[in-house]
Amino acid sequence: MRIVVLAGGIGGARFLLGVRAYAREVGAEVTAVVNVGDDLYLHGLKVCPDLDSVMYTLGGGADPERGWGRAGETWTVKSELAAYGAEPSWFGLGDRDLATHLVRTTMLSGGYPLSAVTEALATRWQPGVRLLPATDDRLETHVVVSDPGGGDQRAIHFQEWWVRHRAEIPTHRFVFVGAESAKPAPGVLDAVGAADVVLLAPSNPVVSIAPILAVPGLREAVADGSARVVGISPIIGGAAVRGMADRCLAVLGVECSAAGVGGLYGGRAAGGLLDGWLVAPEDEETVVPDVTVRAVPLRMTDEAATAAMVRAALELT
Ligand code: GDP
Ligand code: CA
Repeated sequence: MRIVVLAGGIGGARFLLGVRAYAREVGAEVTAVVNVGDDLYLHGLKVCPDLDSVMYTLGGGADPERGWGRAGETWTVKSELAAYGAEPSWFGLGDRDLATHLVRTTMLSGGYPLSAVTEALATRWQPGVRLLPATDDRLETHVVVSDPGGGDQRAIHFQEWWVRHRAEIPTHRFVFVGAESAKPAPGVLDAVGAADVVLLAPSNPVVSIAPILAVPGLREAVADGSARVVGISPIIGGAAVRGMADRCLAVLGVECSAAGVGGLYGGRAAGGLLDGWLVAPEDEETVVPDVTVRAVPLRMTDEAATAAMVRAALELT
């Protein structure tokens, strides 16, 4: 069996732990197609937060409390940068984490595409699933905001909106800069085409899954392919389990609920993506037109609980 997972960072990474556990049990092959919309250059270095969250988590090197970055991290370089007054100061890069960005940036400068760099970094971490960026091309999520109290609209990088402003400034829309001319990374369309099932991880639908689907050809490959498509709700009982998905959904005018996100993805019969939609027991009344909805526990408390979610998703197909 071949499983493709569309994934963002922390939620995607935790979900992939369960997918990998399930796949080892049944002998399935897993490809993760990961969001690059959060990627940015900081202090001259290319940082890929979602790819790194997935790589460190699956490789056993993630900080379990923070959920992002490296376990046993130290912050010497960060305080040295602060001593120079170097901006941006709102994004913390740990010393261990910096090594990843140095290797990545060196390889990118040497002409290697991000997919090849990701494969090289994964040789160290052995994530046990194939990790692919959605695209090798520049695709950045920007957010159109205005200053509190009014003022002109301007676009800022997603990370500035999320990390610096905590999504707490007047927000108008999201723009996936570069999406129109981006191409799926090598292997992505083949993986989707050969998949028996495509799973939409319980990642942020607006800023993790949507930028993946914004790569021309990718949404079509999922929607029109032969693989069954099952999504897992990141919203339980009307709230995001963690993070600020509620703020993102509000910008789109979509209700923060399992039904709202299910409707945003839509049923395949209506030109959407989903055959099946997994919701939590408290959301069992959820209806998404033309989509098979099933309620099972959706809290990714440990690998076994998450693997049970994956099993339920596959049973739905
Ligand atoms: P990010 O890129 O690091 O923000 O992470 P993702 O986009 O991959 O995942 C963030 C989403 O994961 C949030 O919207 C959360 O609601 C969701 N999430 C986190 N933990 C859980 C969980 O245990 N169960 C479910 N169903 N969703 C979760
Ligand atoms: Ca992210």
